[in-house]
Amino acid sequence: MKRLRLHRLSLKGKLTVLSAGAIFITYFVFTFLQYHIVRQWLLNEEEKAMEQTVAEIETYYAEKRNVSWEDIRRSRSFLEKLNERYQLIRVTDRDGNIIVSVSNSAAVSLWPGGVPDKLKMDEHFINNEQFLLLRQPLHVGNLSGTIEIARRLTKFQQVTNTMFVIMTVIGLAAMAASALAGRLVAQSFIQPLKTLAKTMADIKNNGLKQRIDVPSARDEIAELMQMFNSMMDEIERSFALQRQFVGDASHELRTPLAILQGHLSLLQRWGKHNPEILEESLEAAVKEAERLKRLVLELLDLSRAEAMEVPKEIAPIDAAAVIGQIVKNFRVLHPDFQFIVDQPEKPLARVAIAKHHFEQLLFILLDNAVKYSQRVKKIALSLREEGSFVTVAIRDYGIGIPQEELKNVFLRFYRVDKARSREQGGAGLGLSIAKEMIDKYGGQITMESEVGRGTTVKLAIPKAE
Ligand code: ADP
Repeated sequence: MKRLRLHRLSLKGKLTVLSAGAIFITYFVFTFLQYHIVRQWLLNEEEKAMEQTVAEIETYYAEKRNVSWEDIRRSRSFLEKLNERYQLIRVTDRDGNIIVSVSNSAAVSLWPGGVPDKLKMDEHFINNEQFLLLRQPLHVGNLSGTIEIARRLTKFQQVTNTMFVIMTVIGLAAMAASALAGRLVAQSFIQPLKTLAKTMADIKNNGLKQRIDVPSARDEIAELMQMFNSMMDEIERSFALQRQFVGDASHELRTPLAILQGHLSLLQRWGKHNPEILEESLEAAVKEAERLKRLVLELLDLSRAEAMEVPKEIAPIDAAAVIGQIVKNFRVLHPDFQFIVDQPEKPLARVAIAKHHFEQLLFILLDNAVKYSQRVKKIALSLREEGSFVTVAIRDYGIGIPQEELKNVFLRFYRVDKARSREQGGAGLGLSIAKEMIDKYGGQITMESEVGRGTTVKLAIPKAE
């Protein structure tokens, strides 16, 4: 029930209640112990004083020879001297008859009867006043009776009462102070969270640009804010990329569609009666349709590569065997090219990549090598083992890529020479698909190039365990 109510409180309320509660309980336990320890100590002091008094009386009587009840009666002045304020001392015989009694503002009406067999100390409340009663058996000569001391604990009561009042007052003040402190603590915790919530609301209303001013404190909340800001940066960046991608993709699709439309209307108007135009336009239209198809397929490949999840269990493959097969196909497709494969004599470790993905990667890279080679039609592949990777370097002797462009070629739709690349049918997606894919497998793709001398693309594929 109580839990449920605490549950319903705001975070601020919870923090206030919890911290105030914790402070108060600590204070309460501490003062409770303190009060009882001090009280016990004071009581012990009183008891010790009484025990000392009784010991002195006993010694006094023991020193007398042949002591009689009369002697004891006459010891009144000694007892009076020994007595303290708020204390009564008396001696009774075995039947409880009082032989001598001296009192200093300590009238006691009720005494426990009988002769004790040893020293007895009791606490009593008589008419709301606290007393300590000490009873000690007296055996001197042939007399036996009891020495009794009653001490009214007026001072002790005053001290403990005052202590109780002071502690209660301080306790109440501490409760108020701890509630206030709890509130302040809660406030300082909640304020940054409120800022966070406000920024989130602003982002919802005004867009992704908004960020939180992270306080200089290096606590967990500042960390959370920093994390939130960097998450927003990431979201904003990926939104911008997404927007750019959609823009680029539609632009890429628009060009062949416009060309196709142009040729079709040309055909509609003139082509029917002019076989030359008919032939030419049909050929151009088929070429554009081909390009469109390829573009759409590449877009599909890219989105597949992005969404691809690497299976947990991958059947390891022999990279050299796959390369052998692909190169064989390329030799058939491009008989004018020379393909050289160089690999170490000892068999290479198997690699952890799905076979069709590896084939797709090789296809993209070999296709580029062929596309961007004009004079020297030679492509060299070399396989190596490097640490935990098997690497495949594909070297061509083609047009090359300017140094400053190398970092861009993995971007989507990026083409170094726009016109030439388009002429060759490329949309600038091949390398982005390749990078996306190899990154997912925990591998790497790197490129070195020199304009006019050729390009080397290097794939590093993780070895299978
Ligand atoms: P594309 O489909 O246009 O070839 P890629 O993403 O595969 O797209 O390549 C991006 C750009 O990088 C290409 O347009 C081309 O300009 C350049 N490029 C890629 N590979 C080579 C290469 N082997 N030699 C020269 N330039 C290359």
